[in-house]
Amino acid sequence: MTNEFRLAAGGRIDRGRPLRFRFDGRDYTGYAGDTLASALLANGVHQVATSIKHGRPRGIMAAGVEEPNALVQIEKPFPEPMLTATTVPLTDGLEATGLPGQGRLATEDDPARYDTMHAHCDVLVVGAGPAGLAAALSAARSGARVIIADADAEFGGSLLGTGEQLDDAPATDWVQRAVAELAAFPEVRQLPRTTVFGHYDDNYLVAVENRGDDEASRQRIWRIRAREVVLATGSHERPLVFAGNDRPGTMLAGSARTYLHRYGVVPGTRAVVFTTNDSAYAAAIDLHDAGVAISAIIDVREVVSTYWASRCLQRGIVVHAGSAVVSTSGTDRISRVHMARWESDGDRVTDVQHVLSCDLLLVSGGWNPAVHLHSQARGTLRFAEDIGAFVPDQHARSVRSAGAAGGFFDTADCLRTGAEAGGDAALAAGFDATTGSLPRARKAPVLAGRNVWLVPSPSDSAGNNQYVDLARDATVADVRKALGAGMDSVEHVKRYTTIGTAHDQGKTSGILSTGIITEALGRDIADVGTTTFRAPYTPVTFAALAGRDRGDLYDPVRVTAMHDWHVEQRAPFENVGQWKRPWYYPQYGEDMEAAVLRECHAVREGVGIQDVSTLGKIDVQGPDAGEFLDLVYTNMMSTLKVGRIRYGLMCTADGMVFDDGTVMRTGQNRYLISTTSGNAAGVLEWLEDWLQTEWPHLRVYLTSVTEQWATIALAGPRSREVLARATADIDLDNEAFPFMSWRDGTVAGRRARVCRISFSGELAFEINVPRWHGREVWDALIDAGASLAITPYGTETMHVLRAEKGFPIVGQDTDGTVTPHDLGMSWAVSKKKADFLGKRSFSRADTARTDRKQLVGLLPADEDLVLAEGAQLVEHSELPEPPVPMLGHVTSSYRSAALGRGFALALVKGGRDRIGDTIYSTAGDGLAAVTITEPVFYDKEGARRDG
Ligand code: NAD
Repeated sequence: MTNEFRLAAGGRIDRGRPLRFRFDGRDYTGYAGDTLASALLANGVHQVATSIKHGRPRGIMAAGVEEPNALVQIEKPFPEPMLTATTVPLTDGLEATGLPGQGRLATEDDPARYDTMHAHCDVLVVGAGPAGLAAALSAARSGARVIIADADAEFGGSLLGTGEQLDDAPATDWVQRAVAELAAFPEVRQLPRTTVFGHYDDNYLVAVENRGDDEASRQRIWRIRAREVVLATGSHERPLVFAGNDRPGTMLAGSARTYLHRYGVVPGTRAVVFTTNDSAYAAAIDLHDAGVAISAIIDVREVVSTYWASRCLQRGIVVHAGSAVVSTSGTDRISRVHMARWESDGDRVTDVQHVLSCDLLLVSGGWNPAVHLHSQARGTLRFAEDIGAFVPDQHARSVRSAGAAGGFFDTADCLRTGAEAGGDAALAAGFDATTGSLPRARKAPVLAGRNVWLVPSPSDSAGNNQYVDLARDATVADVRKALGAGMDSVEHVKRYTTIGTAHDQGKTSGILSTGIITEALGRDIADVGTTTFRAPYTPVTFAALAGRDRGDLYDPVRVTAMHDWHVEQRAPFENVGQWKRPWYYPQYGEDMEAAVLRECHAVREGVGIQDVSTLGKIDVQGPDAGEFLDLVYTNMMSTLKVGRIRYGLMCTADGMVFDDGTVMRTGQNRYLISTTSGNAAGVLEWLEDWLQTEWPHLRVYLTSVTEQWATIALAGPRSREVLARATADIDLDNEAFPFMSWRDGTVAGRRARVCRISFSGELAFEINVPRWHGREVWDALIDAGASLAITPYGTETMHVLRAEKGFPIVGQDTDGTVTPHDLGMSWAVSKKKADFLGKRSFSRADTARTDRKQLVGLLPADEDLVLAEGAQLVEHSELPEPPVPMLGHVTSSYRSAALGRGFALALVKGGRDRIGDTIYSTAGDGLAAVTITEPVFYDKEGARRDG
């Protein structure tokens, strides 16, 4: 079987470029320009999948995105699941298999790149059929910047698949001229293979471009902001619901016509046509003229169009009026249809009158305008009785519909409404509309169709075999069951039956289910309405949406000036916000615990060095800077002297601790504040928010300077010695340079600002240099401290050291429910200030309770035990019947080199009044006794601070 069903000539395929492909393990050939579906049909393959629930054979039913059946899994060139054979362009070497409604994701890494483009235009035209092309031409001729996008690789829309004439020549000639004219405008961008899948507020639209053979860049997302939008998205043909309507070989009439004209393929040898309207006659005649035997046209209307009837007569095609197909038979493919009389006003059919042999059943139940984007943009719909479909009613601002999308099914009307919409859109965007000439289209007289939702069945009155949604295997029986269960809205029936929830989102089934519900409930279809149209219009891969934001670029990584040094030392990194911070520096095969004990010991007994560049730094300037800081910190900052530093807490308006850090006064109107590493952006945003919305009168300017500085902490009793070796112009004496002050000077030959602050309780200096010099100064300090066994330490050691001193970490020992008083830090809350964020909340009854959870220390009775952070605390060693009252939980827990044992910080109800009490912590499967202590475990009197 090689292209047995391909005509000798015709179609828009490139017969000079044959392509080999494999489907379900068999080899075939097709041509460049084919889709997988057209190539399969050319080879006589109809059945491509099995249905998801009932396991029934399913064939190709459509020629585009509305296809409900032909789901395939692509294996090569790259595995991709759940694609419709009707939208997969054929490529050489393509390998695919049919699917039972479920796919398989690739297990290998995708080598392709996915991009995002941002574009702006005056007029965006979606769809490049006759309406879209006419719209784009009008808009472009007026001078507007135009983008025209079409899902198809070729512009022309339905004209590519109908063999129609314009200006007495093939319509495709006009398409070619239109495309060439558009290409000559420098401000027009043509986007073939681009599906607009989302239409959001203010004409923000998102599209996905398939980049075809470009293997490196498989897909590209376009984010388009358009002043005006013309939706020329065409329409989808509606199938008919009758018993056995899912047999392979059943196909939409318009799609069969497309296979013929566009791909030179006849999808069968002997066809029956079943229709409710005129449009299927054109398909029947075109197929007849191409050599397909048309057994009969079965038309549900009592009176058929004389125009079409005479054309059928000329060809000897029999037309059965007032009749219907009531069932089909055949094993893997349709072989017979069963026809009965159906009075136009009757709800019953007669017994079967004719059995017709065929291998193809073409169906048409009318056409649904593709109103998806119109509805996504919040346009409304109305039911148009004459075409039996929902059409746009009110449009969203700056949106227009044209052509079949607007309910116009005649090519001349499509061209006219397209040109008008394009001109209006350009005018609205501020251009002078110009009208160019339009090609002449032949107009056939149209006889109104009959709106049919369900063909009664003498053999299947329950509706088990009448498929509404083929993709979901949902039948008329399922709809009736939903109605029987009390569902009476389309949205509820959708959820109950899953109609419209598959890959095709109900493009062929949605309106049918509305119609069937309407008839069953005896209601007006306009009242029943449609389900909500949501983005995406067609499935979009996550890879395309993610674009380049994956792997290392998924979440940006921030590294300090000294990062490479840490990497050289093989330090594992801890993620803090987006920062990579060295966690510990293992030596000679140490594990983390051994490394941390060694590092802690070095800081307590000698000297340690840490990269603390990641702390957030915000420069606060302006005449009202002091007043502002008094409002956002709980303690007083405006009284700070230039040259001095103060620790401060920030609370949210409910009095809960939000962040902490130091405040340095660097000038009369200038401060530098530090924040926690992970919360720097949050704090800046928070401060800006207050400044801009609550206190706009304050003359204060905030600048993030985190990245401008590299900061190095030297900590330990011998830190002064190390620093002294690296600076000549800063007097490091305690008197000259007291705790909580800063000095400018030179360190390792570079301008530096040195602070005396300590997070470990030891004598410590923080050296700030421009980021550019960070690594150089770090190296110099390491050299300076070499003879003193200077030891680099990471975040884990820092955490242990500060916990030994009872210094809380915001976000670890607090969780948004903890006040400064709960932390035992009332000393940091001003009693003098008239106001500050959180102040009023401290007098709330709940915030002032004495049995609130308070920060305390815990010492396990078993000195070797290190409690788990997050462990719950209970009163007794025997657990009572649940619910067990909880006293609190462990917030920080470590083994201490200085204490020679495990210890913890915890939040415990009324904990400060319970110092000395024994309570119990969950530990493994049991409970462990712990003693409540003061939170400060080491150097309670603060004797080590000055060295
Ligand atoms: P069209 O069907 O010719 O073109 C619509 C185009 O829009 C298609 O190429 C499609 O790929 C594209 N498209 C749809 N949604 C898209 C999206 N979200 N993103 C990107 N592209 C998208 O529509 P038209 O220009 O309105 O012309 C309709 C044609 O179909 C006319 O020739 C008309 O005669 C014919 N038609 C005839 C009947 C009938 O009853 N005889 C019924 C319907 C349509």
